[in-house]
Amino acid sequence: GELGPEQNGLVIAHYGQQLDIEALEGEDTGKVFRCFVRANIDSLVTGDRVVWRPGKSATGVIVARCERENLLQRPDNFGALKPVAANIDHIILVIAPEPEPHDNLIDRYLVASESTDIPAVILLNKTDLINDGNRERIETLLARYKSLGYQIEQTSAARAAGQSAPEVEALVRGKTSVFVGQSGVGKSSIIQTLLPDESLRVGAVSESTGKGVHTTTTAKLFHLDGGGDLIDSPGIREFGLWHMTPQELEYGFREIQPLIGRCKFRNCRHLGDPGCALETAAAAGDISPERLKSFHRILQDMTEQQARGLKLT
Ligand code: GDP
Ligand code: ZN
Repeated sequence: GELGPEQNGLVIAHYGQQLDIEALEGEDTGKVFRCFVRANIDSLVTGDRVVWRPGKSATGVIVARCERENLLQRPDNFGALKPVAANIDHIILVIAPEPEPHDNLIDRYLVASESTDIPAVILLNKTDLINDGNRERIETLLARYKSLGYQIEQTSAARAAGQSAPEVEALVRGKTSVFVGQSGVGKSSIIQTLLPDESLRVGAVSESTGKGVHTTTTAKLFHLDGGGDLIDSPGIREFGLWHMTPQELEYGFREIQPLIGRCKFRNCRHLGDPGCALETAAAAGDISPERLKSFHRILQDMTEQQARGLKLT
């Protein structure tokens, strides 16, 4: 059939062989077209910018993918990396006083952020639950990540749907965000304040049908009222909690990375080996002992899993 002229578009959702493309120029700007992909384009994901040509009745054909700024990937059941979402401005890592933040989990998410080159912001949610019993522990934790240069924000999502907090609005405004973090910290609640329309939310369907939250729903892109986009899927919320290589681990601890190669022995395993530069730095107070411990633990897990011939997930 006849196709209109080439123009720019944005992938906002993915359905098997077809994708929803939002027109980014011309009189159709903001309208959504169900598109097929030319065979010569490799996999497209939500957040990708594309060149496409409109066809009849809100359909179209994608003819090219624009260069990506970054890409979130996750392994499939066979361990092969599959792209999930592209062109993300920041990963918002949500933590809370309850459930208690797991140092090691935060560090795993941060490794994922570093290795994808997508900046991470740590967002402490449920500030209403801070009390004399947990304040010091939380302040110490936040100070540790702040001193590493990570942006820290605080909020409470305990509010009416659609009543977003100014600090969260400011954080997501004009950017493409993803929310990650351990279960129960309040990701859905925060997203609900930003996307009050229930039908738009990723978790909504699986919640109402009573099926597990961990469905295979692909990522969707949502425009936020205050400007900015949110890409969300159950898979993205768990992003970072899978296989990583020792190289990614070394790169992913930003204060440890410059120390690699300075150990006494070239084959240093950085697990408390004699002359390890990491130990020297920790003893001198240059790096946090908690972070080194966490680095050791992830490395050790990795080594044990490799020894058993399994992949770390
Ligand atoms: P998710 O698993 O990260 O998506 O977490 P949810 O959004 O499902 O929240 C888990 C629980 O924490 C729910 O019972 C929420 O009502 C509650 N919650 C979320 N945000 C807050 C908050 O700021 N303060 C308090 N007290 N509870 C919250
Ligand atoms: Zn070493």
